[in-house]
Amino acid sequence: MVDSQYWWLIAFPAFFALGWLAARIDIKHVLSETRSLPAAYFKGLNYLLNGETNRAVEVYVEVARHHVETVELQFTLGHLFRRRGELERAIRMHQKLLARPELNVAQRQQAQFELAQDFMAAGLFDRAEAILTELQHTDYARQARTELLGVYQQEKAWRKAIEIAQQLRDDSHTYQHEIAQFHCELAEQAIARSQPDDARVELEAALTANRQCARARSLQGEMAIQAGEATIAIECWLAIETQDPHYLALIARPLLAAYDGMNRAEEGTRLMVRLLSQYPDLDVLDLTYERLMTQKGMDDAYAFVRERLRSHPTMPGLRRVLETHLLVAPDDQKADLEIIVKLLNEATREQSMYYCSHCGFKARQYFWHCPACTEWETFAPVRGQRSRNPQ
Ligand SMILES: [Zn+2]
Repeated sequence: MVDSQYWWLIAFPAFFALGWLAARIDIKHVLSETRSLPAAYFKGLNYLLNGETNRAVEVYVEVARHHVETVELQFTLGHLFRRRGELERAIRMHQKLLARPELNVAQRQQAQFELAQDFMAAGLFDRAEAILTELQHTDYARQARTELLGVYQQEKAWRKAIEIAQQLRDDSHTYQHEIAQFHCELAEQAIARSQPDDARVELEAALTANRQCARARSLQGEMAIQAGEATIAIECWLAIETQDPHYLALIARPLLAAYDGMNRAEEGTRLMVRLLSQYPDLDVLDLTYERLMTQKGMDDAYAFVRERLRSHPTMPGLRRVLETHLLVAPDDQKADLEIIVKLLNEATREQSMYYCSHCGFKARQYFWHCPACTEWETFAPVRGQRSRNPQ
């Protein structure tokens, strides 16, 4: 009896010690597990913040290998692969995720949405379209439609783009500019197919969507010229003044040609002079100068640009004045003037480009649809102007 009592005396503390030890080992293991994950996360995050995506990916790939169960991490990694342009890896990652039976509905939809974006980035628009169409009936409906709008624009499927934009319109974004532009694209396609009646219908639809659509008026004018109706063309183009007069610069040349073709050249020139005095930023100074030079001679053209420089001093205006002065200057001044004009030309080169007010992309040519950021009507119709509505 005495022996067994002693045995219990030793056994109890021993059991406690073993339990304590076991608990410690377990807790230590658990702690190491939970600590290693956030530590690696932060390490990866640090790399990301420093712009070192390559090293961040290395860290996350390593963590993902040991923690296959962490779905969120797989999403992060897939996203990183796509951003780095490793589209095949991103696609594989998201396809693997989708194959997992334990994903809940929200995670499955997220994986589908990510995969659709991978396909878009890879230019596999039909596959992206198939997934996004499916997602239209889920919580991802709005995001899916926004992406679909991108797909249809890439595929130049303007009819479908109009349909989606109409579904997307709400108080925060009416899509009226985009819808009008899509109709203009359809009109241009119809013009290219020699189907002017279809083109006319599209242009009317463009103006119904957005009365201010200067591109639609501009195309209506072009069609009238092709049909030999110069008076109607002039009417269509002049209507742009009531929309946004700065777009007149884009059609000023054919507009003047229409006046010339009807023996109303003087009227065309007077119109340009009037528009310039009314809208000082209108980009028709060079054109008006050229016309004055040929119609009225150098004295009138020179007087005009000097007056313009005084009332509206700009660097391109100054260059134009000096260029004209060079023509009449005495021979001993010409060499100096030539150097000044050359320097001014270099200094104002930036002002001979059109700029996208959304992404800053610049081009010699005017675009209704920015080739860089794919936004619509973001190019100011005035060369050298970086914002769409300068004040
Ligand atoms: Zn842009």
